[in-house]
Amino acid sequence: MLPALFEDCRSHNYDSMTTTPSTASLLLEIALPVPLRRCFDYLPPANFNPADIPPGVLMRVPFGNQELIGVLIRVKTESLQESAKLRPAIAVIDSRPALDSELLDLCLWAADYYQCAVGEALQTALPVLLRQGEPAQVRGEPVFRLTTEGKGLPEGALKRSPKQAALLSALQARQQLSRGDLDLLDIPRTIAKALIDKGLVTLVEVAPSPSPLPSQLLREQPLILSDEQQAAFAQIDYSCFKTYLLDGATGSGKTEIYLQAIEQCLKQGKQALVLVPEIGLTPQTLQRFQRRFNLPIVALHSGLNDRERLDAWLQARDGIARIIIGTRSALFTPLKEPGILIIDEEHDGSFKQQDGFRYSARDLAAVRAHRLGIPLILGSATPALETLHNALQGRYQYLRLKARAGNAKPPEIQLLDIRGEILHEGLAQASIDAIGDTLANGNQVLVFLNRRGYAPTLECHDCGWLANCNHCDARMTVHQTPRHLHCHHCDHQRSIPKRCPNCNSSHIQPIGQGTERSEVVLQQLFPAHKVIRVDRDSTRNKNGMQKLLVDVHSGEPCILVGTQMLAKGHHFADVTLVVIIDADAGLFSTDFRGAERMGQLLLQVAGRAGREEKRGRVILQSHHTDHPLVQTLVQQGYHALAELILQERQITQLPPYRHLALVRAESKQAIAAADFLQLARRLAEALQASSPLLNYLGPLPAMMEKRGDRFRYQLQINSAQRKPLQQLLSQLALQLEASPQAKRVRWSIDVDPQEMG
Ligand code: ADP
Ligand code: ZN
Ligand code: ZN
Repeated sequence: MLPALFEDCRSHNYDSMTTTPSTASLLLEIALPVPLRRCFDYLPPANFNPADIPPGVLMRVPFGNQELIGVLIRVKTESLQESAKLRPAIAVIDSRPALDSELLDLCLWAADYYQCAVGEALQTALPVLLRQGEPAQVRGEPVFRLTTEGKGLPEGALKRSPKQAALLSALQARQQLSRGDLDLLDIPRTIAKALIDKGLVTLVEVAPSPSPLPSQLLREQPLILSDEQQAAFAQIDYSCFKTYLLDGATGSGKTEIYLQAIEQCLKQGKQALVLVPEIGLTPQTLQRFQRRFNLPIVALHSGLNDRERLDAWLQARDGIARIIIGTRSALFTPLKEPGILIIDEEHDGSFKQQDGFRYSARDLAAVRAHRLGIPLILGSATPALETLHNALQGRYQYLRLKARAGNAKPPEIQLLDIRGEILHEGLAQASIDAIGDTLANGNQVLVFLNRRGYAPTLECHDCGWLANCNHCDARMTVHQTPRHLHCHHCDHQRSIPKRCPNCNSSHIQPIGQGTERSEVVLQQLFPAHKVIRVDRDSTRNKNGMQKLLVDVHSGEPCILVGTQMLAKGHHFADVTLVVIIDADAGLFSTDFRGAERMGQLLLQVAGRAGREEKRGRVILQSHHTDHPLVQTLVQQGYHALAELILQERQITQLPPYRHLALVRAESKQAIAAADFLQLARRLAEALQASSPLLNYLGPLPAMMEKRGDRFRYQLQINSAQRKPLQQLLSQLALQLEASPQAKRVRWSIDVDPQEMG
C-alpha cells in the first residue's frame, strides 16, 4: 500500500510496452542522462554475462557519436528497437550497483509521478563523481595508531607533557584516532607529530568500516522532556511506517525530540536521515547533533566539493555514517540500516525542486519511509496546509507542542496601524521608540524586511517614469553598494541614470524600502550601535553568515536588519524585539499560497524573539490592520489563520482539496508558447474530457509574463483524484514530447506545483 498521501495514485509501469519474453539473447535496458522520457536498449558488453549484472549498476554506452554513463534498469529479452540497430554497451563501471534496488525503485516511482525522464531523475539522485565514472569506494582515511614501542609504554607515561599523555591514553583506550578525533579531544596535531618523531605513534591509512556501537552513544545527557514533549515522544513507533506531524512553536523543543528519537534508532544499530532547508545558514543545528552523539555524522551541504559529497554518500551507504543531515537532494542518500527520516521546517519551499526533476523531498520522504517501513517525522511551527490537512484528517499522527520549552514565553505580538502615519524610511515613530528602548536596556533588535537592495525601484518625480527591466515584466531594484540597478529576475544590471530617460528631469528618486536603505537609516538613528545587515548580498562570501553573526552571538546590543534569511532556524538569545516593516506583502498576492506563506514567514520571524529567559515582543507594521487574515493571525495565531485559509481553499477547490499540475511553456515569441499549450489542452481533452472530476484552466500568461526575454504561459490541470490526473499526465507527456511544436519552446510539467508564477 502507498502512504496515505498518495493513496489513490498507483504508479504504472514506465515501460508498459514490453512484449512477451522469448529465448532471444538478453538485452540491457539503460536509463541515460538525456531529457527523453524513455530508456535505451543495448547488447551486453563483450565478456559479460548479463545475468551477472544487477539493476542499478552504472554502465558506459555509446550514444550517437559520444559515450554516456547510464544506469541499468533491468535485463530483458526483447526490444522494441530494431535488433539490427542495437549496439553493445562498452563496459560495466562497477559490478556493485551504484543504486540499490530500494533507491532505484524510489527514483523510478518518482520519475513516473513527477513526469520526469528517468535518466534525469537518476542524475539528481547520484553524486556527480559517480555519474562521471569514479569508483564507488570509500576513501582511506589517515589515522593515528600506537607503534609497538608506543604500546609498550606504561599507563601514565609522558607525564611531563600533559597533552602528549592525553593523546597516549586516548590511543590506549581507542586503538586509533582520526584528525577529527584529535580536534574533538582538543589535542593539537603538533602533539601527534611529536610522538611520531619519538617513534611512539604512526600515521596509517585505513579504509573506514562501520565501527561497532560505542558503549557511550551520547556525549552529553539528553534534556529531561517536559510532559508535553514526553507525550509526543512516547507516541513514536520505530518499528513501522507512520508519518508524524510534530507541530510546535519555535522554541517548543522539537529538535530535542528529534535528538531523542534518533537516539532510539541509533541504539538499535539504525541510521537517521535528517533533511533541513539550509545547512549553510544554520551551523548551530549541526553542532547540536555533534555535541549530542558520539557516532559519525555527515552533513551534505553546498559547501562540499564533489569528492567530499561522494565520500559522505558512500559513508552513509556503507553504514559508517550513522546520522546524515542534508538539504533536499540528501533524500536520495543510500542507507545501510535506515531507522528514521526527519524533515525539519517541513513547510519550507526549498524541499520542492523548481526545475528539471520537480520533486518534493517532503512528499517523497513519505514514499521512501513507507517502503522502508520506518517512521517519518515532519516538524514545523507553521506546518504547510497540505501537511496540516493530512494531520487533521488523521492520515498523519498529529503531535502538538503548545508551550515553549524551558522558561521561554511566547512573544507578544502588537499590530501597529501605519495608515496616515509619518514614516521614517518605512519605520513608524512607535517602532523607532521601541528599538531605542530595547537597545537602552541592553538587548538586541531584529528588523525584518523581505526585500534586498536599497529600494524596490527608481521613479521620476516629474513624469512618473519607473526603472523597468527591458527583459522582464518587472522593475529594477536600486542597489547602493555598489551603486547600480539590478533585475532580481534575470540578473540584468545597468547604471543608475542621472536624469530621467523620459523627460530629462533630474528629480529621480528611489521609492520604497530595501534592506540596504533600512540599514542606512537605522545607523543614522542609532549611531552608537552596530547595525548588521543579513541578506543574500551581505552573506555572499564563504561563511559570510557566520562572520556576520559573531557580533550578534556576543550579546552586545545591536540591530539586525534582514530578509527571510533571518527567519530560518537561528537562535538569537538576546533579541527581544522584532519589527516587521511590512506585514502586508503577500496579503494580496495572485499566488493562492500568498497568504499561507505570509503567515508562515511572519510567525517564523516572530519566533526569533525572546527565546530564552527574556520575553520577546513583536511589532507588525501594517496598512491593513483590519484585514481578516491579519486580524486572525495576530489575535489567534497561525493555526486559526490556517483554518481560515483551508476553508477558503475548500470553497475555491484548491489544494489540499484538489490536486494540481501545471504544464508550463516559454519561448521568445509569446505566440509559440501559447500555441504549444493550446495543443497541450487539445491533446489532454482528447484523452480526458473536462468534467467536475478533472478540468483545465488556460493557457494563461504566467504572473510575470515576460522574464529574461521569454514569454511564459501555463495550463493548469485540476483534479479531484490523483489517479486520473497521473494517467492523463503520463500519456500527455509522451504525446507532447513527440510533437514537432515541442522543439520550439521550453516546456515542463510540474506536479503539485508550489510556485504558481
Ligand atoms: P525547536 O526545535 O522547537 O525550536 P528546541 O528543541 O531547539 O526547539 O528547543 C528550544 C530551546 O529549549 C533550546 O535551547 C533547548 O535546549 C531548550 N529545551 C528543549 N527541550 C527542553 C527541555 N525538555 N528542558 C529544558 N530545555 C529544553
Ligand atoms: Zn521623467
Ligand atoms: Zn529582468
